[in-house]
Amino acid sequence: MTNAVRLTGLRKTYGAGESAVHALADVSLSFATGGFTAVMGPSGSGKSTLLQCAAGLDRPDAGSVLLGGGDPVELTGLSEKRLTVLRRERIGFVFQSFNLLPTLTAEQNVGLPVRLAGRRVRRSALREALSQVGLEGRGGHRPHQLSGGQQQRVALARALVTRPAVLFADEPTGALDTEASGQVLRLLRGLVDAHGLTVIMVTHDPVAASYAHRVVFLADGRPAGEERSPSPERVAAALAGLRTAAVAAC
Ligand code: ADP
Ligand code: MG
Repeated sequence: MTNAVRLTGLRKTYGAGESAVHALADVSLSFATGGFTAVMGPSGSGKSTLLQCAAGLDRPDAGSVLLGGGDPVELTGLSEKRLTVLRRERIGFVFQSFNLLPTLTAEQNVGLPVRLAGRRVRRSALREALSQVGLEGRGGHRPHQLSGGQQQRVALARALVTRPAVLFADEPTGALDTEASGQVLRLLRGLVDAHGLTVIMVTHDPVAASYAHRVVFLADGRPAGEERSPSPERVAAALAGLRTAAVAAC
């Protein structure tokens, strides 16, 4: 089994002196190719920082980020220019807020990153990406004509149109109701199962985490255990344990 992402000794500190916050204190974690991993932990435990560093959106202070199974690339050594190219071609990212441009249609939103990169994108590829997320026939709609769940699926199509090796998602269902969340999560799991996509998703919702193969927990910027048969009940119990430990330490 290869690893799509391998993090070793990651550290990231914000601020200095007494006000320094160790967002990532010492994180070593591997994510299998074709796996769906949820990252959970109390608020402020470093989940978003971990994702941003792993995806090359932020630079860690120390440690290494290896991306790709066969011939891995060390992200931390890359110039800003090469990092930009790599992010564009091999990494997909979706956020809690969909970040769609309101004046563009769904199809234009999906094609925007590729066009900004100065490349042509075939309409058939855009349509295929939208159909992959169950939005065939909606390509001409603007974001305000779509529900929240549909907008997040447009954002997902936009992230997938370049066929990235890894999809990072930071609370992708955080702004969605239960039904729309379920649709997005089933979609993600389906892409993993049917197409071998690797997904790393931050969530605070034990039900969302139960769609993953594996849940890794963070506490105070450090790995704090994992769950390999994540049912909502088991995940909720593990999270409650972390929160109790955090309160006890205060
Ligand atoms: P999570 O996503 O688990 O809530 P974050 O990774 O966003 O946690 O943040 C981890 C810690 O780092 C928090 O204490 C947060 O306040 C701090 N932090 C995150 N980003 C910044 C930043 N840009 N400047 C200063 N502190 C930050
Ligand atoms: Mg966060």
